[in-house]
Amino acid sequence: MKDYSQFDVLVIGSGAAGLYAALCIEPRYKVGLITKSKLKTGASGWAQGGIAAAINPNDSYLLHLEDTLKAGAGLCDRVAVEFLVTHGAKAIRSLVDMGVAFDRKNDHLAMTLEAAHSRPRVLHAADTTGKAIVTSLMEQVLQRSNIQVLSQAFALKLWLNEATGRCQGISVLYNHKITWISASAVVLATGGGGQVFAQTTNPSVSTGDGVAIAYRSGATVRDLEFVQFHPTALTKPGAPRFLISEAVRGEGAHLIDETGRRFAFDYHPQGELAARDIVSRAIFTHLQKTNTNNVYLDLRPIPEAKIRYRFPNIIHVCSKWGVDLFNEPIPVAPAAHYWMGGILTDTNNLTSIPGLYAVGETASTGVHGANRLASNSLLECIVYAQQLSNLTIKPVETELISPSVQVIETSFPIEEVKKIREELPVLVWQSAGICRTEKVLENAIAKIQSWRTYLRSLPWNKYLEQLSPTQTVEFTFPEAETNLRLYAETLNLLDIAYLILQSAVFRTESRGGHYRLDYPETDPLWQVHTLVKRDSWQKSIIN
Ligand SMILES: Cc1cc2nc3c(=O)[nH]c(=O)nc-3n(C[C@H](O)[C@H](O)[C@H](O)COP(=O)(O)OP(=O)(O)OC[C@H]3O[C@@H](n4cnc5c(N)ncnc54)[C@H](O)[C@@H]3O)c2cc1C
Repeated sequence: MKDYSQFDVLVIGSGAAGLYAALCIEPRYKVGLITKSKLKTGASGWAQGGIAAAINPNDSYLLHLEDTLKAGAGLCDRVAVEFLVTHGAKAIRSLVDMGVAFDRKNDHLAMTLEAAHSRPRVLHAADTTGKAIVTSLMEQVLQRSNIQVLSQAFALKLWLNEATGRCQGISVLYNHKITWISASAVVLATGGGGQVFAQTTNPSVSTGDGVAIAYRSGATVRDLEFVQFHPTALTKPGAPRFLISEAVRGEGAHLIDETGRRFAFDYHPQGELAARDIVSRAIFTHLQKTNTNNVYLDLRPIPEAKIRYRFPNIIHVCSKWGVDLFNEPIPVAPAAHYWMGGILTDTNNLTSIPGLYAVGETASTGVHGANRLASNSLLECIVYAQQLSNLTIKPVETELISPSVQVIETSFPIEEVKKIREELPVLVWQSAGICRTEKVLENAIAKIQSWRTYLRSLPWNKYLEQLSPTQTVEFTFPEAETNLRLYAETLNLLDIAYLILQSAVFRTESRGGHYRLDYPETDPLWQVHTLVKRDSWQKSIIN
């Protein structure tokens, strides 16, 4: 095994953001790409609908800008959005050059309309766009001699220089050991945190690790109360909450209730093509009114040949769970889908900690505001990761340490941690889901706080939060490694749950992906960001 104790740049996460970032960093730098599961695992590979870019002659970046700002409900950072939409065409060109086979129509890139876009501008590769992008990026990464991939390596904690506060590496659980890896720059690309909700479209790796790790080291995090709930996730007993892409409604599918009525127009003039939060809340309210568990998505208004061409994966997954979508509507309900908030970054992806960068869903660049416009997130991953090509760093200065090795022989009782891991998402879904109130949030926070205190009192904590960079830990008892990983992920989930709920209490209004039943109106005085550092919650200046 190659030496992995020192890199120029460490990238944590191998979704679209992490892979593309690793490729953009100048090849003269030695890059370590760390990922906690397989290289291909992450939300990026699951993206279906596509990637938005204003490249059609009837479109313009100004229209894309306008649509993004409108969806973001007053909280987008205009400069960040301008940067996103003006770099869209370049990002798409680069992906095409890397071999991403987007669908074409008459030799041109094909584009579809998605909810809240004023023009068809979503490029796709059937309904597995994310897989097409990730596969091409992975192939490129594996060919690059300056990039070393460490799979099944779990980032635990940032390594900050005690004197300067600069990030100079991380501790990682890898190959039966906890070791410290030094680097001149660390890029967090760890994705979202959907697993904190019982109903989610996100994969199992989406546990908010980057936000939790950065927050614990004192980074400023922003707008964590804003969570996008996707209106249409498959709702079949035993099936995962598989996402039925927005593009299906864009192509003409209807949302109907048990009686077959198109109810979405009762709630908004744009019906099923209104913004996601509006459609999600319409379904949620309709389910409560009708005392039912799901509504239906009827694809039968779309010509059969088009369904077969555009949505082969949706056909496949639905049929696996017993739904023949050519002859019956698909049972669907909302699920947590995308986390707008994250680690505060500037347009160069720099966080508030020197040497620490964040990109992709884990970052808060300001492009999504209070609500993300569909298909803008893959674009954000690519456009912002591209910025890392400007990264210039000094060679690693950290002295290589000769760590003391502690061998872990004992196993700790894990059952209680497993129980918390199961109960937490149910509590968060019930308290901080589509509709929120102060009383319910406060009760849930009290429970979460008691779990956080309990977890921090367990002996594992000395390997996670209290380990110093002169210590390496080796596991000779195999289960201890698995248990520590479960412990670390559960603690991350508890920390992000606390941050989401506390931010949801803080914001006494409704806006975008944050809806308060006790404050249902949007308040102009709240057109500000929620900034969190350690235990301090603050409003930014007016956006
Ligand atoms: C079902 C679904 C469909 C979607 N469809 C679309 C779409 O059509 N268009 C669009 O624009 N967006 C879509 N999105 C959103 C979009 O896919 C994500 O926002 C985007 O892919 C995030 O990319 P990322 O690289 O930031 O994170 P991810 O792709 O989630 O990658 C995160 C990586 O970090 C790793 N990681 C996490 N924690 C650690 C740790 N502690 N140590 C080491 N590694 C770690 C993970 O293993 C993973 O490799 C969809 C999301 C889902 C879930």
